[in-house]
Amino acid sequence: MKKLGVVLLAFLCLFAFPACKKKENLAELGKNLTTYSMDISLNTQEKRADISEKINYVNNTGSIIKQVKFHLYPQFFKSGAVGTVVAETHLNDAYPHGMSYAEFDILGIKVGASEVGIKLSGEHDGILEVDLITSLTPNKSVEICIDFSLTLPNCEHRFGYGDNTINMANFYPIACVYENGAFSEKPYNPNGDPFYSDMANYFVNISLDDGFLVAASGDETRRTSENGKQKISFEGHMIRDFAFVASNKFELKSGKVGDTNVNYYYYADSNADAALQAGVDAIKTFSRLFGEYPYSTFNIVKTDFIYGGMEYPNLILISGDIEDLDDYKNVIIHETAHQWWYGMVGNDEYSLPWLDEALTEYSSILFYDYNSGYNLNHKAMVDANHSNYCKFLSVYKDVLGDMDTSMRAVDEYKTEAEYTYCTYVKGVLMYDSLYNLVGEKKFIKSLSTYFEENKFKNAKKENLISAFEKVCKMNLSGVFDSWLKGKVLIR
Ligand SMILES: [Zn+2]
Repeated sequence: MKKLGVVLLAFLCLFAFPACKKKENLAELGKNLTTYSMDISLNTQEKRADISEKINYVNNTGSIIKQVKFHLYPQFFKSGAVGTVVAETHLNDAYPHGMSYAEFDILGIKVGASEVGIKLSGEHDGILEVDLITSLTPNKSVEICIDFSLTLPNCEHRFGYGDNTINMANFYPIACVYENGAFSEKPYNPNGDPFYSDMANYFVNISLDDGFLVAASGDETRRTSENGKQKISFEGHMIRDFAFVASNKFELKSGKVGDTNVNYYYYADSNADAALQAGVDAIKTFSRLFGEYPYSTFNIVKTDFIYGGMEYPNLILISGDIEDLDDYKNVIIHETAHQWWYGMVGNDEYSLPWLDEALTEYSSILFYDYNSGYNLNHKAMVDANHSNYCKFLSVYKDVLGDMDTSMRAVDEYKTEAEYTYCTYVKGVLMYDSLYNLVGEKKFIKSLSTYFEENKFKNAKKENLISAFEKVCKMNLSGVFDSWLKGKVLIR
């Protein structure tokens, strides 16, 4: 109890009157970014959609480009790509009604007014290459229209449907990030969240049956209904992806943090108030600790989802399979922290999954320092991570021999368990050692500096380390490297 008093005092000094800060004008900030406009006609009976996507692609690469490449993540959910969606040990959980596959067909592509060919490449044809009619110089834009249709798999995943929800995430062609003179074409991977994208603007119209509620990225701007069909419009500025979940079983509870509407979409939940409150408390706490949540909408959505939860801009998916209320709230808090680490400060989640994931996990532990009404606490959670990590390492060594404990890219782990322990569990231990080394005040200040310097961009490892070094006035790259390279002995 004594520590809480000290923590609270420091907290108030550091973050006085955050609510007075004016929200940023996101539309103005995003005016020179790529814009995705989509018309989606969703057939909720057949779980299929016809989609017309218009991309006003702005060449922010700094180079003259002759083509634009897009990720086609639904390709990895098709029958020819079996085994790429989840690890084999999770197949029964992901497909409780038996194997089911996506269909995904590109029907036509136009660059400006000209039809162009459909050129697919990469693993499982997961990359679409659109050749531009003429070279595109920096800061100029080109209009690319892609018509496509898809059928969702009966799969409790980010792209699929279950008995309760239709999960539409990573469902549309999204531009690859351009860096080091090329588009980053890393494919889907069953480990982690293998995504990497730039900030953009979204205007999305969704047509579907009346009686369905839709939780989406961005803000709902318009809803009309005619002949049993409704059309809902969403608008999102300065977000790096767009996803939505639809269900005719959803109930809705809403709260508010400053100008932000916090919504909880759920089915069969007798603890809905507690779930909503966890989201409200998380948005409040992380806004004070790291920097303001600048969006008007934050949606927490209970879904048919195989893992604990999943983050998208302004939208988090929480698994309906979680039975324990403390665990459920903890997942909400974790996924909310991703709005800062992944959402606003982006990173290549394929190559550096630890950069957002470990920080998100540790942020969710920090949350309990400032919210004593919850049944979890910082020290107990770090101790549990420590003991779990040691047990895992010992069993692994007995069965499989020495383990590479470096924190690496999602495709470099032999098993999902190895990925999880090295990225999340060890990540918590790394940040806790840093927290103990520099102290709470500098630790939080380092994270708010990292946030401020990298907000709405994609960060690298060096950006994180330099924020800590600047605030703490210490050389910390050796400390980070010893953890990342697996040299720290944990016992
Ligand atoms: Zn996460």
